[in-house]
Amino acid sequence: MLRFYNTLSRRKETFVPLQPGHVKLYTCGPSVYMAPHIGNFKTYIFEDILRRWLAYRGYRVRHVMNLTDVEIKSIWPAHGSLKRLLAITGRNARAFFSDAKTLRLLRPAIVAPASKHVPDMVRLIAKLMKRKYAYVWPGDNNVYYDISRFRNYGRLSRTPRSKFAKLERRISKDDYWQYEMGDFVLWRAKSSHARGNVWWNSPWGPGRPGWNIECSAMALKYLGPTLDIHAGGSDLVFSHHENEIAQSEGATGRKFVRYWMHCRHLLIEEQKMSKSLRNFYTLPQLVRRGYSPRAIRYLLLSRHYRERLNFTFAKARQYERDIARLEKCCALLRNYTGGMENGKVREMAAAALRAFEAAMDDDLNVPKALSAFLHMMTKVHALVERKAMSREEAEAALAAAEKMNGVLVLV
Ligand SMILES: [Zn+2]
Repeated sequence: MLRFYNTLSRRKETFVPLQPGHVKLYTCGPSVYMAPHIGNFKTYIFEDILRRWLAYRGYRVRHVMNLTDVEIKSIWPAHGSLKRLLAITGRNARAFFSDAKTLRLLRPAIVAPASKHVPDMVRLIAKLMKRKYAYVWPGDNNVYYDISRFRNYGRLSRTPRSKFAKLERRISKDDYWQYEMGDFVLWRAKSSHARGNVWWNSPWGPGRPGWNIECSAMALKYLGPTLDIHAGGSDLVFSHHENEIAQSEGATGRKFVRYWMHCRHLLIEEQKMSKSLRNFYTLPQLVRRGYSPRAIRYLLLSRHYRERLNFTFAKARQYERDIARLEKCCALLRNYTGGMENGKVREMAAAALRAFEAAMDDDLNVPKALSAFLHMMTKVHALVERKAMSREEAEAALAAAEKMNGVLVLV
């Protein structure tokens, strides 16, 4: 029985998709104002494992991801030119997908850049205006979402209503990392500042969409009113995901997400990654330092997704050696010519696979699944070297190993 921890209920729940056999999955994509760094990929690797595990369990997954390419951090360097904006974000998006491929991440069925979906966002804001969830504030001509109108606001992040019900505050900042509470911006009116002037037309005058509206617009467009799973980093619970629920449910009147899954962030050598600490690494930088992408993937998936992970260079080196051993063991099994029937190998492989599956079914417990895989491989390695199993037994062990590796993708 497959179970996931649902942030909404703060409990592990049995996973039952809306339509049997099919999963509608939405994940928040990168903001491409800069090239991706290694910290971004902890969440994307968790989402990759989630997808692979759902597929392993026989589900057909429809995965949609947005690409934030309309954001103040990329608009400012573009100096008012959409063409320049798309050149900057296009370059960073290519770097993201190149790194994602190197880390062997499955590509979403649909990647939706915000810049190509502004009319969808305008339509969604118009719906919210019509249903009185949104209003134009004469102070700055921006359109805001009225959070006091939405009954379930604060439910995902467990914020008591008293904290915002009478808050007369508007937040026009549309940054990826936005933790203030108040009515948030849906449409930002054209600025008098030349550098901020990348804009589109709308019923409320020229301007550009706020950052939160894009995920609601993409999810509703490509997956319909209700998603099975919405995943992202835990720092998005408040305010981005809270805002996504308010926008989507405000517009449709239907439940937006059935299972919310959030991944904790990455530390580098026990410190939060930041430019000022000079511990800000990109994947190509680490590769140039001699770390293989496989060891980095291994490291990033090695802890449970709901736990923080500490990235250390010593660990990366150790995982490099582990992978080399796994690879050697697989090669030995593949080229094995045979020995005496052992009698226990088949059951050992089947037991390892059962333990692996049980761990993965339990809210993607990768550390436990990984240990079942490694434990089996160590035992098999010793037996193969001693020629203490038959060729058929080696084939059974290899088949189990390939099934497990198909999810983790280490070798
Ligand atoms: Zn999002």
